Amino acid sequence: MTNFTDLGLDEAIVRAVSDAGYSAPTPIQKAGIPVLLDGHDVIGIAQTGTGKTAAFVLPLLHKILMSHTRPEANSCGALILAPTRELAAQIHDNIRLYGKYLNVTSSLVVGGVKPHKQIKALARGLDILVATPGRLEDHESTGAVRLDQTSAVVLDEADQMLDMGFIPAIRRILGKLPSKRQTILLSATMPKQIRGLAHDFLYKPREIAVTPVSKPIEKIEQRLMSSAGQNKRQMLVDILNNEPIERAIVFSRTKHGANKIAQHLEKSGLTAAAIHGNKSQGQRVKALAAFKDGSIKTLVATDIAARGIDIDDVSHVINIDLPEVPEVYVHRIGRTARAGKSGVAISFCSETELDLLKAIEKLVGRIGGTRPEPVKGTETVSTSKKRPNRNRNRGGGARTASTQTDATPQNAEKKGNAKPGQRTKRRNTGSSPRRAANNNAQSGRRNTNSSSSNRRSA
Ligand code: AMP
Repeated sequence: MTNFTDLGLDEAIVRAVSDAGYSAPTPIQKAGIPVLLDGHDVIGIAQTGTGKTAAFVLPLLHKILMSHTRPEANSCGALILAPTRELAAQIHDNIRLYGKYLNVTSSLVVGGVKPHKQIKALARGLDILVATPGRLEDHESTGAVRLDQTSAVVLDEADQMLDMGFIPAIRRILGKLPSKRQTILLSATMPKQIRGLAHDFLYKPREIAVTPVSKPIEKIEQRLMSSAGQNKRQMLVDILNNEPIERAIVFSRTKHGANKIAQHLEKSGLTAAAIHGNKSQGQRVKALAAFKDGSIKTLVATDIAARGIDIDDVSHVINIDLPEVPEVYVHRIGRTARAGKSGVAISFCSETELDLLKAIEKLVGRIGGTRPEPVKGTETVSTSKKRPNRNRNRGGGARTASTQTDATPQNAEKKGNAKPGQRTKRRNTGSSPRRAANNNAQSGRRNTNSSSSNRRSA
């Protein structure tokens, strides 16, 4: 059995990983870490729960440890971009956890909080900066951070960045990085726009796919409950009172709905909090902390607020509304059955949601339980027109776990997508001769493959 040392990671990192309780690498770690240590660009097709964060954080830490350079003031050696504040904070927590025996500087730059402390941290220069795109661009525009010294960049949950409209910002940011760098793109799904982003900004990427998005984790018990003629909020209260629930995440399609549900649960004597985009950063952090420490048993969330949240021991996911995009169903239920545990996903379905159910079942297979009768003489509300095509499961085939293919420009060319050299040329966008000189100097410094451990702190 492969262990973390076999993957080529430094002992100080392996020790921290072992302290975290991980005995063996997950498939994406096994496939991804050696490739990243070799310096390749990588496309990782993986959702949360696969261990994807450690798959890119551990090699980044190892490379920093092996380097002898300190980041210059107002610059960062590695940049990790995440779509939401919560995900960014989680990644930063992981960096601290896995880097606890290393002398590595890192910081978090997200919106919703005052910029002063962030500016101070950036001024010192950082080995790793974790950021959301909007706030990073704010700091870049004022000169609080410059990106011309950044030799590695990670785009985490790229498909969610797309959903949130961040792709133009990501393209601007990538254009400011040196052309000589390592680029890592992670995404649960690969819509056209993300393929395009990878094509334009990654150089001969290796592609690693794990846990097919079209196949939910077997350990999740999926149940359907007809909500025809019933009050969904009351059905929820009954479930929360009767099921052996450790922690439950309830999904609502709207922010308003999430608030109403949380209020109803509180009124019914249950502990709950809502988390969505209209809540302040403070409220979101407080709700998540209470959910984590067990003082709140139920978190009512919208999709954007919930994706990427990494909380173990979520025993139940309850879909008050079915999502309009079938893959979102898979993301939602993936909040439970983490870290080898089992979990229950209960979905309410009204007679107007039958088309949504049909699309979901096309993706995951038939879900057991009770289902509403189609209303006779009336058509069910078809939402298929509204559903964005980009998130549809094309081809329907399950991806092979841990497959690794070489997505080279040559391969792309065979498919008629690229001309030879096109990618290399595009990657130079935004980098000046001065930058290129800097990069060469920097990569020379950074590539010292010495075992010196002046970065080890304990
Ligand atoms: P992620 O996919 O990065 O969101 O990680 C999902 C969960 O897996 C997190 O709770 C990690 O702490 C956990 N995890 C990461 N690597 C391992 C591993 N090798 N063995 C067991 N759990 C892990």
